Amino acid sequence: MDKSTAQKKIAELAQIIEEHNDRYYVLSEPTISDKEYDDLLRELAELEKKYPELKDANSPTSRVGVKISSDVPTVRHRVKMYSLDNTYSTDDILQWHKRVESGLKDQKFEYVVELKIDGVSASLLYEHGRLVLGATRGDGVTGEDVTHSLRTVKTIPLRFKQEHKLPIPDILEVRGEVYMSRLDFERVNQERKKNGETIFANARNATSGSVKLLDSRITSQRHLRCLIHSYGIAEGTKEFKTQWEFLQTAKVWGFSTEPNSRLCSSIDEVLKFCDEFQVKRETIPFEIDGVVIKVNSLAQQEQLGFTMKSPRWAVAYKFPAKQVTTIVKEITVQVGRTGVLTPVAELEPVECGGVVISRSTLHNFDEIERLGVAAGDRVLVERAGDVIPKIVKVVEHAAVKKMPFKVPELCPVCGEKVEKVNCEDVAYYCVNPLCAARFERSLTHFASRGAMDIEGLGEAAVAQLIEQGLVKDLADIYSLRKGELLKLKLFKDKKADNLLAAIEQSKKQPLSKFVFGLGIPNVGEKAALVLAQKYSTVDRLLKCSEDDLLLINEIGPVIAKAVTDFFHSEAARQLMRKYQSLGIDPVELERKKGNQLAGKKFVFTGELDAMSRIEAGKRVTELGAEVMSQVSKATDYVVAGRAPGSKINKARECGVKILTEQEFQEMIHVQ
Ligand code: NAD
Repeated sequence: MDKSTAQKKIAELAQIIEEHNDRYYVLSEPTISDKEYDDLLRELAELEKKYPELKDANSPTSRVGVKISSDVPTVRHRVKMYSLDNTYSTDDILQWHKRVESGLKDQKFEYVVELKIDGVSASLLYEHGRLVLGATRGDGVTGEDVTHSLRTVKTIPLRFKQEHKLPIPDILEVRGEVYMSRLDFERVNQERKKNGETIFANARNATSGSVKLLDSRITSQRHLRCLIHSYGIAEGTKEFKTQWEFLQTAKVWGFSTEPNSRLCSSIDEVLKFCDEFQVKRETIPFEIDGVVIKVNSLAQQEQLGFTMKSPRWAVAYKFPAKQVTTIVKEITVQVGRTGVLTPVAELEPVECGGVVISRSTLHNFDEIERLGVAAGDRVLVERAGDVIPKIVKVVEHAAVKKMPFKVPELCPVCGEKVEKVNCEDVAYYCVNPLCAARFERSLTHFASRGAMDIEGLGEAAVAQLIEQGLVKDLADIYSLRKGELLKLKLFKDKKADNLLAAIEQSKKQPLSKFVFGLGIPNVGEKAALVLAQKYSTVDRLLKCSEDDLLLINEIGPVIAKAVTDFFHSEAARQLMRKYQSLGIDPVELERKKGNQLAGKKFVFTGELDAMSRIEAGKRVTELGAEVMSQVSKATDYVVAGRAPGSKINKARECGVKILTEQEFQEMIHVQ
């Protein structure tokens, strides 16, 4: 890029970033994701590095937050509040570590690592142990006076605790992050939904909006919390030598600090902490967006100093973004195995939480109306942990407004009528039980891991078998022949053999898996197991009565009716007879005690706290499971201990359930 083009680009980027700063910091209503914002900022920083003479002194790359222009009274911070530089990978962290090493010459040093709470930065001023002022960070020099709001935050002490021997400082100005727990965020949004108010896109926006409210009675209902992570002024008290010492003292005075903080003597320990909490992210009761790494010694911090915007002695390691924005290309309708019509947003592919997503379910037609979403809109999409992506909200409507989405009157697959089963139901159904889409999904479900576990019979294979007319009902797969399979595009010699072997193997599945595979409405894995344990054979199930079913604790009237409707129907009776004639007559044997994880495949990665990996392996083997060394699609669980390795990424790629140590312990203890 030549210099004059760079000049234009720099001005344009600065203006765009300022607009986003305003929406984010002032209005708490961002229209792009943090990742997209960070990408813009990085692009600007790179251009400024290439052409330092074009850099404006006021560039957003060297300023903290935004200048305040609201009606709220402002306060000048006595000691500037900084932002943090970001790193996004192990390499970035190691490069920063090298700069710290060279800044500290040959001195020894330690790090403190703390989770990076995704909330709103605040400053709290105490005089003789009493809170006198609470302010936002603002542009780092001037913030808003929000004392009235911060006084309502229960974890912000109004007075220091007295029951200790530490001197109370004359003046102490601490900095922390005000945030909303995941549970409170859910609750606040549920209430807003009920009242017809717009929902907050995330806990950070909700916190930011709540802190700036003028009516502190409403703020107090939001149950904000605060974790203290640093200080600006400490007068008339002992001198702190390290960040770690400050955190311990702050707790004695009555402040809450980030509970997972750790003192690390090497960069390897820091990297392990980052890996560990990237995995545990969703198990933390509040939103975190990374880890903050700080040089522990305050003297060494001083030696390293600050840039215009951030300290050189600390850095943020940011986790992959959970929320991104993208465009809805169109809204399509999918027909499920029970005939329910589900609208789906087809998205411009975008990376989110480490995977590329191109579709997001809209759940039901009311959701389209609630979100006000239409084709062409830019939407905020979220993918947290293993959870399927969801559209959080529309951030920008299409320039040319498209026709609002209408519920189809006819099934998009078979052309039959579409109707609601009853008025209260939000779902619409295709009335045709023989609808091809319904059958395709039913068969995929029947073959799935939780049901008959037929490897190789996924969506693509099922679609081809149906298209070629080789299967017409759920039992036909048991009469497939190799010659027929070889005619299909997907199946070469070995693959056909493997599929036939998997189909044969599935005949040994217990009745509970078979019943779940039948896809009876409202009968999930748990209900299927209860039914199989009670009736133990298909013949007995065919004779079940609603009254008998209602005697079972776990079965309510809805499931009881669905089960009897199904097993008493002529279609089901014929299907069961067909299965039996093909040699499939599953039974439920009483489960041996201590065999509850039978057939499950586990992989362990990282260190466990409560037991060694060998002990953990022994325990699951005793419960009937198998321990594998590598992750594959056949793995059921990956247990992630401290500092897990690359197996975690493989687990994500394969869609394998990842368990934290706590979840693993709960699993083996309830067994
Ligand atoms: P930041 O939030 O990325 O990091 C700095 C802040 O982290 C500190 O001020 C501090 O309050 C906080 N923090 C949390 N836990 C901490 C801990 N344990 N120790 C120390 N500090 C801790 O930086 P920022 O300047 O507040 O905001 C910039 C970021 O905000 C951007 O990188 C971007 O992700 C986001 N942003 C997004 C938009 C948008 O339009 N989406 C606009 C502006 C900014």
